[in-house]
Amino acid sequence: MTVLCLVEIADGSVRDASQRALSVATALAGSAGEDVAAAWVGSGEAVSRAELSAAGVGVGYAILLGAGIDYAPLAWARALAGLAGVAGPVSAVVAAATDRGNEVLAHLAAITGQPMAANCVSATRSGPDKIDLVRQRWAGSLLEEADLDSPLALLTVAADAVAAQPEASPARAGEVDVRTYEPELTDGDLLVQATESADRKAGVSLATARVVVGGGRGVGGPDGFAVLEELADLLGGALGVSRVVTSQGWRPHRQQVGQTGTKITPELYLACGISGAIQHMAGCQGAKTIIAINTDPDAPIIAKATYAVIGDLHEVLPALIAALKSANQTS
Ligand SMILES: Cc1cc2nc3c(=O)[nH]c(=O)nc-3n(C[C@H](O)[C@H](O)[C@H](O)COP(=O)(O)OP(=O)(O)OC[C@H]3O[C@@H](n4cnc5c(N)ncnc54)[C@H](O)[C@@H]3O)c2cc1C
Repeated sequence: MTVLCLVEIADGSVRDASQRALSVATALAGSAGEDVAAAWVGSGEAVSRAELSAAGVGVGYAILLGAGIDYAPLAWARALAGLAGVAGPVSAVVAAATDRGNEVLAHLAAITGQPMAANCVSATRSGPDKIDLVRQRWAGSLLEEADLDSPLALLTVAADAVAAQPEASPARAGEVDVRTYEPELTDGDLLVQATESADRKAGVSLATARVVVGGGRGVGGPDGFAVLEELADLLGGALGVSRVVTSQGWRPHRQQVGQTGTKITPELYLACGISGAIQHMAGCQGAKTIIAINTDPDAPIIAKATYAVIGDLHEVLPALIAALKSANQTS
């Protein structure tokens, strides 16, 4: 039997969230002595074999959709459904709980008529058609233990709650056997396609950035974000914002962090002028280190942050930028 993991790729590497999905897929396969296969949309050379090998992947399926087709959710799901018939008996399909992972697996659930469990944190096989799951509910504030009864389990993995590095499996590490797969698609499968805008492609993606500089109402208005953008650029990071900022129209919704925005998992989240509402924290609790800059020592984020600076962001950030620039010059 095989656990098939859909991996999203960027610049030849497995995206961080998909690495986390691979660790859950590997643990699930390990609990039943099954194999792990990976599938991605793109050529056989589009992804690092070393990364797949380190994650215990034995076979990789490069899905070829046709020239110029990038993200087409139904086509991706159709391909996975087809692969489930080609890759030998498949017991589970796992993907990251990203917008794409959740959407594609929801389509796959509709195609196959099998149940899908979203935002899983762990999965262990407990019987031939039975998996014990722990998954996030209520934006991560509750962990649910559940049984999934299905000959084909469809799972997405909560990116912020699983270790980033898949456990290397030396016994299984080795050459990945990469095969290409061309699914049979209809026009209807390609009706919905998404492409990234040029400016988004050029910048660092919020979902995968290692540093995120966040701004909230305390920034004061749309002009106040120039200093946050400058800091994000200096740190090689991305800008994230609270919902107040997007609902005021100061920044676009795609930059929103939180329950109804993007979930981020950076090494460092610098939250500036953000109070730390539960709906915001639901999107940034996967950050390794949170530094809050806030004028109010009683703001909820102060208790949740690793470090806090009590002060006006309009004074703290320029001083931080000046210090970083002078450190860069001397190094
Ligand atoms: C169903 C639902 C879903 C939601 N989803 C999201 C979501 O996905 N993401 C999200 O962010 N919110 C979400 N919210 C909204 C959330 O509840 C909060 O209202 C929002 O996060 C508050 O944004 P804020 O921290 O920027 O603003 P505020 O709560 O107003 O906080 C502003 C902070 O800035 C500080 N400050 C002010 N001036 C300065 C200064 N000069 N220097 C430093 N600090 C300063 C203040 O002390 C304060 O702590 C959701 C709400 C609901 C009901």
